[in-house]
Amino acid sequence: MEKGIGIAGVAGRMGQLLVEEVRTAGAPLVGGVDRTEAGPAGVRRFADMAALAAASDVVVEFTHASSAVDHAAAVAEAGAAWVLGTTGLSAEQEAAVAAAARRVAVVQAANFSPGVNLVLALAERMAAALPGDAYDAEIVEMHHRQKVDAPSGTAVAIGRAVARGRGVALEDVRESGRDGHTGARKPGAIGFAALRGGQVVGEHTLLFAAGTEHIALTHRAFDRRSFATGAIRAALWVRGRPPGLYSMMDVLGMG
Ligand code: NAD
Repeated sequence: MEKGIGIAGVAGRMGQLLVEEVRTAGAPLVGGVDRTEAGPAGVRRFADMAALAAASDVVVEFTHASSAVDHAAAVAEAGAAWVLGTTGLSAEQEAAVAAAARRVAVVQAANFSPGVNLVLALAERMAAALPGDAYDAEIVEMHHRQKVDAPSGTAVAIGRAVARGRGVALEDVRESGRDGHTGARKPGAIGFAALRGGQVVGEHTLLFAAGTEHIALTHRAFDRRSFATGAIRAALWVRGRPPGLYSMMDVLGMG
């Protein structure tokens, strides 16, 4: 790595862990950007994303969805690879990420933990084996009270994996946030429920419920450091790759 790794959102919960993980990996840390001045000591602060991207081989970003469009343009313009962990992106913000990935290498994942990526692979295979007219797929997630988006990016990624396994588009079968007189469950629907409270790092259960049996797959994250470790692994993997939109599955060799 010639220049090193930059961190966007360096003062945040994930940003601070990312600084530690870069140091643990022995990789050069370029510095970071954040909206607030607080944050880890001994890390050089840049004026904006454009300046950080110009100084870095790879920028690892965990900030807020509202930053995605500007930051996508900044990394593409600077020619820096981008590891993006921010969740809750709109269709327009996702399109900006895809546009950047035509010019630079981008690893985007709703969840950088290796265990969750295994759940995604298994979810697709289970859904292919368990027909939607007999097995109702429901995804239940719980997160800490500070989380601002719902359902979680990971829950949506599990839903997409189930949809892929069944050869349908998630948007056509998604049922989120049921409340009031919703009518009966539609055959083949993929349902989402989100719980918020306490300091839960992240829990996801994928349930297939049939008349005769239930099958559930649960992942519990106890420490968000697993996301930071995975994101830095992605940063070391992505440097020097050709432009494209890569997933954590690609990084782990499961793509
Ligand atoms: P946080 O609020 O603790 O930190 C976010 C930081 O980003 C804050 O310090 C904020 O000041 C900064 N920020 C916001 N907009 C910015 C901008 N335009 N430029 C520079 N800095 C900016 O939140 P967090 O818990 O660290 O999570 C951040 C994001 O990462 C959320 O979207 C969360 O859902 C997501 N997340 C993803 C994964 C994953 O594995 N993909 C894991 C954990 C969290």
